[in-house]
Amino acid sequence: MTAVYLSLGSNLGPREEMLRRALAALQDAGLAVPRVSSLYETEPQDLPDQPWFLNLVAEIETALPPLQLLDCIQRIEHALGRRREVDKGPRMIDIDILLYGSLAIDTPRLAIPHPRLASRRFVLEPLAELAPDLRHPVTGDTVAEMLKAVAGQTVRRV
Ligand code: AMP
Repeated sequence: MTAVYLSLGSNLGPREEMLRRALAALQDAGLAVPRVSSLYETEPQDLPDQPWFLNLVAEIETALPPLQLLDCIQRIEHALGRRREVDKGPRMIDIDILLYGSLAIDTPRLAIPHPRLASRRFVLEPLAELAPDLRHPVTGDTVAEMLKAVAGQTVRRV
C-alpha cells in the first residue's frame, strides 16, 4: 500500500457535512483513511469573490493505481452533487490528489504531485499537520519548507 494524500474542500452548502460525507464515501469505496487533519477555514485563492472554504487533508491507503483513484474521487464528487460550474468557482466538494508516494507524473488528465501544491497555504497547512517532513518527489523540499515559503493567504484552523 502506498501513502497517498488528498485535499478536500467545500465552500457551498453544509461545508463540514460535505467533507464528512466525502470521507465516508472514500471509505465506502474501499480506501483506508488512517489520518485526517484538522479543519481549516480558508480564503478563496483563484477567484476571490466567493464564500470561504473549509479544507482538510486526508492520508489514505489504496491499492488503486493513480488514474483509477482519480476515477474514484470524481465519482464521489459527482455523487455528492459536484457539477461542472464556474472554473475555480464555488463547489460543494472538491477532491484533489496531492501526493501519491514518491510518484511523479504529468499527463493531460492527471498531474502528481498536484501542480499547485507548493503555492497553496490551504493545502500545505493541513498537510504539514500530518506530514511536515514529507518531501516533494520532484523538488526535494519538505512540506514544512514549502509552507514557510508561501506568503499571504489567510488560513484559520477551526
Ligand atoms: P478541479 O476543478 O480542481 O476539480 O480539477 C479537476 C480536473 O483536474 C480534472 O479534470 C482532473 O482530470 C484534473 N487533475 C489533474 N491533476 C489532478 C490531481 N492531482 N488531482 C485531481 N484532479 C487533477
